[in-house]
Amino acid sequence: MKPSPAFFAQLYRLLAMPVTEEDCGRKCGPYNEGGVPFCCDPRHALPTLYREEWAFLQPRTTLWRLWTPEADDPEAARLAQEVPETQVPAVCRGVAFCQREYRSLVCRAFPFFPYIGRENAFWGLAYYWQFEDRCWVLSHLNRVRMDFRQAFVTAYERLFTAYPQERETFRYHSQVMRRVFARQGRDIPLLHRDGHTYLINPRDESLRPVDPARLPKHGVYRLEDELPFPDEAV
Ligand code: SF4
Repeated sequence: MKPSPAFFAQLYRLLAMPVTEEDCGRKCGPYNEGGVPFCCDPRHALPTLYREEWAFLQPRTTLWRLWTPEADDPEAARLAQEVPETQVPAVCRGVAFCQREYRSLVCRAFPFFPYIGRENAFWGLAYYWQFEDRCWVLSHLNRVRMDFRQAFVTAYERLFTAYPQERETFRYHSQVMRRVFARQGRDIPLLHRDGHTYLINPRDESLRPVDPARLPKHGVYRLEDELPFPDEAV
């Protein structure tokens, strides 16, 4: 049975806190056109809403509208085709009009997705590695709030009960991440549900504890880190 729209009200209450103490949008925004945080810019990240989530939001806010690709934009058409049957693509009115209480589940969880191991266990939080060069959080995993990590795990446990096929979707995504990282000769950072942080060997899924403050930085954040006076970056 599909969850009622009120199910999303519960998930929203659960994941109401920010990912980090800092307003991370102020950290990455200066590096994007118009100062817009990357995950609030549909040119970088197209949000999707579960169909029941859309039904929950519809009568409550005009923040969201359904998104359809332009007829002459094959890349947008490809993105639209990738949206799973259970979800709809949607865009919000923009960061200046954000209503935090009506942020979607995907907005709240970004930049993380639930890592599902080969044996189908939900291990914790892995991240959308495609955003490593842009997302400040991915260069500062030590800043992720512990209450966010715990709420994320609870929220996705509930989501998997409501949408069992989502577990398979994220299991596949985790497998893709293992392939990509194995090719690159890298281990996968994991914010484990046990509260610790590990590196996953993508070939055999063995775990190695790591201090998240010592993980490498990426893109502009690596360059910032190398500046003699990092506080003077943008
Ligand atoms: S989650 Fe990442 S991309 Fe989104 S606002 Fe924070 S730093 Fe920027």
